[in-house]
Amino acid sequence: MSTTHQLLLLPGDGIGPEVMAEVERVISYFNSKSATARFETSTELVGGAAIDRLGKPITDETMAKAHASTAVLFGAVGGPKWDRVPYDIRPEAALLRLRKELDLFANLRPAICYPALAEASSLKREYVEGLDILILRELTGGTYFGQPKEIVTLENGEQRAVDTTVYTTHEIERIARVAFDLARKRRHKVHSAEKRNVMQTGVLWHRVVTETHKVHGAGVELHHILADACAMQLVRNPKQFDVIVCDNLFGDMLSDEAAMLTGSIGMLPSASLGAPDNSGRAKAMYEPVHGSAPDIAGQGKANPIACIASFGMALRYSCNMAREADLIDKAIAGALAQGYRTGDIMQPNMRSVGTAEMGSAILAELQRLTA
Ligand code: NAD
Repeated sequence: MSTTHQLLLLPGDGIGPEVMAEVERVISYFNSKSATARFETSTELVGGAAIDRLGKPITDETMAKAHASTAVLFGAVGGPKWDRVPYDIRPEAALLRLRKELDLFANLRPAICYPALAEASSLKREYVEGLDILILRELTGGTYFGQPKEIVTLENGEQRAVDTTVYTTHEIERIARVAFDLARKRRHKVHSAEKRNVMQTGVLWHRVVTETHKVHGAGVELHHILADACAMQLVRNPKQFDVIVCDNLFGDMLSDEAAMLTGSIGMLPSASLGAPDNSGRAKAMYEPVHGSAPDIAGQGKANPIACIASFGMALRYSCNMAREADLIDKAIAGALAQGYRTGDIMQPNMRSVGTAEMGSAILAELQRLTA
């Protein structure tokens, strides 16, 4: 029996539509190949493109489609054209609405170093070649959302700023469970990073992750690490890690640090997942880490790998198609090994290509791998 996956494509602005076009070619390829799974896509405006045509960055109809779809594939939004629109309807508000209303509390940012790009890392080849780690960041709680959050003027005229870091047992437990589930699909190791030496949220985080591991962590090795030590170890010996789980603030820092181990921003995919419903299905959105890159938009130069790899994550985490997800990763590695490079990852003596040619090289590898 064939399963049909509904994908909502939101290409957005700038290079978003250019890189999403390459994802659509990969989707068509899988539709032509697989007898057991099919993708039905629907495409909607989001961000600046939606402001221009529909007066708001995302419509209620598009939100309803997002709720109903197996996964949302998001390109990028924003650009100088919309810098002056009111704050509430700026392009990025679409992203925040999607994250909030789909309750996407778990942000997955893999850092994979393809052997062909090991020289592009700021670390020596032997430290990063073959690197494959996953930073799992809690996305909806912690320091960025806790109240009070304010700047007040004191009686003596000085100002005082306050951000509040707050986590509940439930928020920590649900992200810890995601970490253990992910680790079971990988190398069965989780590092939980916090600052229990100086923060009460760290003390609770440590306790709840430990307790959750006893109940839901079968087969997974759990390590606790202070977040600052984790930052250090990421550049000292990154290959010791498999899954790193942490709060919103530390995850923001550690995921960017890990990303830089792998080279260009044009290579980095991400996934944001919600809680599974009674049928086990979790709402999910997949997007490249990069933005709309107005400086190269419309020129056919953008690297489509981050967006294609994000679709690969959708196959793995929303469509239960791990084999096909592995194929995408292998096809990307293969295209790179053959020397295909977009401008952002160009190296001496390699083949300089544009967005569509990189898409074609990846498709050709997919065809070769599945022949
Ligand atoms: P950016 O990621 O768009 O670009 C940073 C640099 O990286 C640019 O030089 C760009 O050319 C390059 N780059 C990015 N993606 C690339 C790719 N796939 N291939 C080749 N080169 C690539 O970040 P920015 O310049 O800070 O932001 C531009 C706009 O994008 C802003 O309006 C910002 O608000 C928005 N933005 C959106 C998202 C999102 O939609 N998730 C994320 C970040 C920034």
